[in-house]
Amino acid sequence: MYYPEEVIQQVIDRNDIEDVVSSCVELKKSGSNLVGLCPFHNEKTPSFTVSPNKRMFYCFGCGVGGNVISFVMRYENMDFQEALKYLAERGGVTLPESRYSREDREKSEHRQLMLDANREAAVFYYKNLYSPKGIKGLKYLKEERRLSDETIKKFGLGFSEITDSSLVKHLKTKGFADKVLIDAGLALFDEKRGLRDRFWNRVMFPIMDMHRKVIGFGGRVMGDSKPKYLNTSESPIFDKSRNLFGLNYARGSRANNFIICEGYMDVISMHQAGFDQAVASLGTAFTNEHAAMLERITQKAKKKILLAYDSDGAGVNAALRAIDMLRDVGIMPRVINMKPYKDPDEFIKNLGPEEFQKRIDEAENGFMYILRQTEADFDMSDPEGKTSFEKNIAMLLCTLNEGAERDNYAETVSRKYNITMENLRKLMVFYSTGIFQTQKRPSREDLSNRPKVKDSGKNQKLLLGWISNDPELYPQISSIVKPEDFDEGVLRESAERLFSDIQNGTINIPAMIAAYEDPESQSEAASIFGVRMIMPETKEERSKAFTELVEKVKRNSYSRWAEASAGSAEDMIKAIEMKKALEKLKDLKLDVK
Ligand SMILES: [Zn+2]
Repeated sequence: MYYPEEVIQQVIDRNDIEDVVSSCVELKKSGSNLVGLCPFHNEKTPSFTVSPNKRMFYCFGCGVGGNVISFVMRYENMDFQEALKYLAERGGVTLPESRYSREDREKSEHRQLMLDANREAAVFYYKNLYSPKGIKGLKYLKEERRLSDETIKKFGLGFSEITDSSLVKHLKTKGFADKVLIDAGLALFDEKRGLRDRFWNRVMFPIMDMHRKVIGFGGRVMGDSKPKYLNTSESPIFDKSRNLFGLNYARGSRANNFIICEGYMDVISMHQAGFDQAVASLGTAFTNEHAAMLERITQKAKKKILLAYDSDGAGVNAALRAIDMLRDVGIMPRVINMKPYKDPDEFIKNLGPEEFQKRIDEAENGFMYILRQTEADFDMSDPEGKTSFEKNIAMLLCTLNEGAERDNYAETVSRKYNITMENLRKLMVFYSTGIFQTQKRPSREDLSNRPKVKDSGKNQKLLLGWISNDPELYPQISSIVKPEDFDEGVLRESAERLFSDIQNGTINIPAMIAAYEDPESQSEAASIFGVRMIMPETKEERSKAFTELVEKVKRNSYSRWAEASAGSAEDMIKAIEMKKALEKLKDLKLDVK
C-alpha cells in the first residue's frame, strides 16, 4: 500500500457513499437502506443495496460489494490507487506526495514519455502514409481493403517506410532518449547497427487504450516477408491482456452489444460498415482479463456480447475458449455465423452490412453453440456414444447458474436431441451438486468423478454479520468464539478486526473493506457485513438461533482442526478443551437484541 490507513480513512470519510453511488445509480429508500438496480449485473428487480449506516454497498443478486472505494473501482474500472486518487480529489483530501518514492515518480515519468513517443510516432506514420513514401501502404488500404480516408483517419492508420531508422531519427530530433524508444517498443538496439526502427515496410495500426492514448502498434507487412503481422511486445504501457483493439470507440457505440472479432482488419472494416461496437484482442488469444473487463463494461451498459470469429477450425476453438472465459464471469455470449465466408471482413465485402445485421440478430446462443460443437466429438450412431453425449449435456446444463435458464435450455435440448426430460433430469440431479457449478465446460475426465460438496463458510459469515449488527453479543461469547474458528483469509482477518473493533468501542466497516485492494476480496468482506438476515420473531427464538449458529461454526472449526491434527497428546488436550467449549454453549444465557 502506498498510503497509510489514516489517509485512506480520511478519503472514505469525506466521500459519502450515498452521494457517490446515487450519482451513478438511481436509489430508493427501503427501511434504513437504499436500494436500486445493480449496475454490475443485469436485473429487473432491485437487489443492489446501500447502507448509509454501515457505509457500504452490497448486491444480493451478484454478490458484489464493498465500501465507497470499491464502488468507484468497479464502476469506473479503476484500480485501488486510481480510485483513491479520484475520491481524494472529489473529497478535497490532499494525498501525501512524499509517500511516492523517487523511484515511483521516475517510473511514472518514464511511462508518460513512452506514451508521448508513441503518440508522436503515430502522427509520423500517418503523415508518411499520405506522402510519396507511403504510396504502397495507401494503395493496400484503399484498393485491397477498400477503406475510406475517413476510416483511415479515425483509426490513425499509417505507414512505416523501408529505411531502417527514419522514425528513430525523427523522435530523436524531438528530444526522446534512446531508452524511451526501446522501452516503448518503437526501436531496437544492437552493437553492430546501433538504434534502428522496429517497424518498417508495414501498414501501421496504432493501438489505443480506453482513454485514447496510443500504447502500442500492430504492423502488417507489405509483400510476403514474415511475420505478416508484427505487434509491439508487452511493455509497461502495453498490456495485451488488459486492452482490446477498438474499445475506445466501441465503448461509446449506441448498439446494444459488443462484437468480439479476431483481428484489427475485421474491427476496422466493421466500423466502416457501421458496426462501431466491434473490438478485437491484440494479436493474442482472448484472456480471462478481457472477459472480466468486458463484464464490468457490459453489465453497466446492459449490453450483450457476440463473437465474430473465423469460421475455420482455429476460429471455432478460439470461440469455444472465449465462451468458457465469458461464462466464468457470468456472460453467455452469442456466436455469429459467418458462413460461407471466413471472417466478418470478407462477409461484409461480399454480402453487405444488412446481411451482417441479420446474422447478428440470428446469432446462436453460446450454450447451443457448445452443444453443437460437442456433438461432433461423439459417435451418435453408437448407443454408447449417444449415452456419453447425453451425460455431457447434463453436465453442461448443470454449469448453468440460474434455475429458470437451466430449465429453458433443458427443454430445448430435450427437443433438439430427442432425450426425454425425465432422463435428462435424472442425469442432472446426479451432476447438480458441488464442483460442477464452477461454470466451466466439464472435461471428459470429469464424467467419471462424482461431485463433492464444499462448505462455503456461509455460517461463519452469518455469525460475523450478526455480531456486527448486535455488537453486545460479542463479550458474551468471546470466551468461546475466537478468530481461529474462521477460515483462513478474508473471513479470519475480518473476524480479527471485528472483535478488536468491538473491544475498542467502534466498528469501522469501510476500513475493514479497505484492508483489501482487490475487488474480489472487497466483495467477500462486504458480503459478511451486508448479510441480510431473516430474524426470528421472539427474543427467545433469536437467542436459540444465535446459539445454534455459534455451535455450527465451532463444530466446523473443530472438524477442520481434527482433520489436520496429528493426534499428539497436546492435541488430545486441545480436543477436550474444544469439546468443553461446545458444552458451555448449552448453558449460555444470551442477551440478544
Ligand atoms: Zn449485482
